[in-house]
Amino acid sequence: MSPELEAKLRADYPQIFTAEPIGDPDDPDFPAAPTLIATWGFECGDGWYDLLDVLCLNLQYAKKIGAPQVVARQVKEKFGGLRFYADGPNDYQSGMIQVAMLMSTRLCEVCGNRGRLVGDDWMKTRCPEHEKPDNE
Ligand SMILES: [Zn+2]
Repeated sequence: MSPELEAKLRADYPQIFTAEPIGDPDDPDFPAAPTLIATWGFECGDGWYDLLDVLCLNLQYAKKIGAPQVVARQVKEKFGGLRFYADGPNDYQSGMIQVAMLMSTRLCEVCGNRGRLVGDDWMKTRCPEHEKPDNE
């Protein structure tokens, strides 16, 4: 993801994309460490920015009305789809994350237009324009 869009997500949702080292909620003895997203950034294309923005907006809205604070561990593309690994979501928030991950396989990862899963051994989600190998 471009540095500008990545910085915007971090600035808009500092509780989700914390720069602080965090521990393992299931293991209090595990030493706190920076998240993979704090270390490596958003490992996906700009086309999913709006999807991530809407997801995070709704995760924080849910927090406002009593749901837990979700903290992202890693955000990346895998097998053509968005992966959003996070601590803390309740069932409602897990459903939001699940819908975002499924929706990502219908949105071009490069530009955000309608896309589809393409490729044989290297799956990606692309619109017709970005499906061409030299057009990313
Ligand atoms: Zn595209």
